[in-house]
Amino acid sequence: MDQTGFFRLGIFAAILVVMALWEAIAPYRPREAVRRPVRWLTNFGLLVISAALSRFTVGAAMIAAAIWAKGAGFGVLNLVGLPPVVAGLIAIVVLDCAIYWQHRFTHIVPLFWRFHRVHHCDVEFDVSTAVRFHPIEILASAIYKSCFVMLIGADPWAVVIYESMLSGFALFNHGNVHFPKSIDRVLRALIVTPDMHRVHHSSVEIETNSNYGNILSIWDRLFVSYIDHTKTSDHDMQIGLAEFRDKNSQSLWGVLWLPFRGR
Ligand SMILES: [Zn+2]
Repeated sequence: MDQTGFFRLGIFAAILVVMALWEAIAPYRPREAVRRPVRWLTNFGLLVISAALSRFTVGAAMIAAAIWAKGAGFGVLNLVGLPPVVAGLIAIVVLDCAIYWQHRFTHIVPLFWRFHRVHHCDVEFDVSTAVRFHPIEILASAIYKSCFVMLIGADPWAVVIYESMLSGFALFNHGNVHFPKSIDRVLRALIVTPDMHRVHHSSVEIETNSNYGNILSIWDRLFVSYIDHTKTSDHDMQIGLAEFRDKNSQSLWGVLWLPFRGR
């Protein structure tokens, strides 16, 4: 593994450990309900399969795209020649917006939703939900992000930082943790908090189709998909998808097969 790979893995592991400890010490929803061995086996099983598959396919595509664009002088940021820090910040914000729209389209386009529903059929919500994605969605996302990296001419280091932030924020905002309302309000003005993202995992369809943001909370406000809190109860609401709560939708093999199943 190269230097950037170790950097990203180190950040991912550190945030995963912090969130798992935080959930163990002060869980928001009852610990017994959340930490089911089957869920963790399924969710982390998907992570291992996706990581292995990416490694031999498009795992390094984003970095390769950034290095190529830089060498070829391709992409908007490589053409305008801003100071590196400014260009890096712009790249991170634009990529976060691109991921907002990727996420929104996975809810709108039926074919994409078949894969994305693997993430949403988790019947609980904790740090492991952050890695519950079908491997094909992970591969497709890597290709989509690589195209954006080339178009905007993102610097390779901006890509490394962005990817670390993307996975770090996903672990953070899927945490079964809770901030006092006053703190949540302040954080939510800028970033996506666990209390904001939990709404997105509600079984109520209009709530599932809201709060798509990953890092910045501004996109949901700007593109009118923001819901402040659930209609039922943020604490006791039902999480998951009403039609995929059976055993077959929860095992590792079950979720791998889920996109190819009927309703
Ligand atoms: Zn979603």
